[in-house]
Amino acid sequence: EFVLEMRNIWKVYPNGVTANKGVNLKVKKGEIHALLGENGAGKSTLMKILFGFEKPTEGEIYYNGELVHINSPYKAIELGIGMVHQHFMLVPSLTVVENVVLGMEPRKGLSIDLKKSVEFVEKEMNKYGLPVPLNEKVKDISVGMKQRVEIIKTLVRGADLIILDEPTAVLTPQETVELFKALKSLTKAGKTVIFITHKLNEVKEIADRITVLRRGKTIGEAEVKDITEKD
Ligand code: ADP
Ligand code: ADP
Repeated sequence: EFVLEMRNIWKVYPNGVTANKGVNLKVKKGEIHALLGENGAGKSTLMKILFGFEKPTEGEIYYNGELVHINSPYKAIELGIGMVHQHFMLVPSLTVVENVVLGMEPRKGLSIDLKKSVEFVEKEMNKYGLPVPLNEKVKDISVGMKQRVEIIKTLVRGADLIILDEPTAVLTPQETVELFKALKSLTKAGKTVIFITHKLNEVKEIADRITVLRRGKTIGEAEVKDITEKD
């Protein structure tokens, strides 16, 4: 039932900072899972490990029940993990559709035929209710739209698990509403979402389950419906 299990993750950076101290994270298929914690709690580090940007000092990752070694973002993508960065990794001078299809190898078993790319991207964006202006240059679109392009990029590469790092930090309230709607439709379609946040109100609004980190440790895991005001 868990699409992802990160067990006993430790991360000591070369400068001696221990960012993760035996963290556990269990994520169910099809849920929106919030990773909640103050600045410096170790959330980004944990997600960098999951996406292959950082190597854990210790610990195991199980993906769909199998022990995996995620030693690069390429490996993460191959497994079906997608990352939506806080600072977008898009080329401003290229169009939306060019950004979606270019620059990276697709997941194994998927091939992107460039001639059919527009159709392909259109199909994906309609499936999840994520319309984007395909032929506009990225430098001319809004921040909310850029984030949507990042999400579509992960989908086109075959992501089943999508990680978003503080996705609402850069959004207007209206864009936030639209993002939340999109995340719901992704999970309805069987995708799994992990999002990093430090805002409990967002967790209550959108997440199914939550894992709380404090000073590098997992201090709790809960169904969001069980969280009451006094927490
Ligand atoms: P969060 O995402 O919860 O804010 P981070 O994982 O970014 O937490 O950071 C956890 C701790 O690790 C912080 O003390 C931070 O300064 C430190 N840290 C993060 N990245 C690095 C790095 N590349 N090198 C050294 N220390 C780091
Ligand atoms: P983000 O929230 O997107 O991770 P940050 O400002 O926390 O952005 O970090 C930017 C980069 O600097 C990240 O790659 C992070 O790992 C690194 N970093 C964060 N804290 C430290 C630190 N204390 N020492 C070295 N690198 C750090």
